[in-house]
Amino acid sequence: MHEASGAPAVDGKDREGVCPMTLATVVVEFFVVIAFALAAVLLNTIDARGFLASATVGFAVMYGGGFSWFVIVAVFFSLGVVFTLYKYGYKRRLGSAQGKGGARNWPHILANGGLASIAAIWNLASPGVVPVTFFLGAVSTSAADTVATELGLLSHSQPMLITHPSQAVRPGTSGGVTTLGFVGAAFASLVIGIMALALGILPDPYLILPICVVGGVFGAAFDSLVGATVQRKGYCVVCLKPTEALKHCGEKTKATQGKWYIENNIVNVVSTIAGAVVAYATFLALAPLI
Ligand SMILES: [Zn+2]
Repeated sequence: MHEASGAPAVDGKDREGVCPMTLATVVVEFFVVIAFALAAVLLNTIDARGFLASATVGFAVMYGGGFSWFVIVAVFFSLGVVFTLYKYGYKRRLGSAQGKGGARNWPHILANGGLASIAAIWNLASPGVVPVTFFLGAVSTSAADTVATELGLLSHSQPMLITHPSQAVRPGTSGGVTTLGFVGAAFASLVIGIMALALGILPDPYLILPICVVGGVFGAAFDSLVGATVQRKGYCVVCLKPTEALKHCGEKTKATQGKWYIENNIVNVVSTIAGAVVAYATFLALAPLI
């Protein structure tokens, strides 16, 4: 997408021809991102403040990686929306649904899209397999974790703590895992892999699918592991319901377990890094075999 800017300028005239085209591309990219973020707000999938966060992530990914990278992030986002809204009423009755009709807020968007944005800008500065695999691992992790969480809430069997598989926990508790959740994680990261393959982000299917699935499922499992061990858990001082949120019923919640500063968004950031590193390690392990 940005090849034009890298074209050698034989003389001054060539450069004049290249710049307006590159500028036009950037303007088109900008409007595509704004339109997508605006549609997301209007569909109530992100809240108003989430607009700026989504537009920032979207533009960084589009500018750094090009349109195909943006499509990958859009696919992750759409997967999240579909699985969040699927049986939303039932999840709300469980008390485990995302608040505000499923709309995500800006910290959540930055936590899930931050590393993908950094990888895209990194790819612009120094294109190569490292930023590409980090990007795919991070997006696969976010997709896998989101779908695993939303699908896991619908599991007929009770979630078990990932660190103590014999101990059942309330649905929606961080660290709780279900077979359905793992299936969801594998499915979501496979979708990201298939899309990345179709868009030619990495040409080899024997590499791209394992990179996404291994990175994504590992990242989602790592999220549960952190969730079971050091993530903040507590209760609401107003309604006394158990919650992992920092605020509930408009008041600060009381932490009873885990580190008080490790809340869900921090866990998401750490997990995308873990998923990205494992995606790159998967590439290193498989590349010599192909
Ligand atoms: Zn409350």
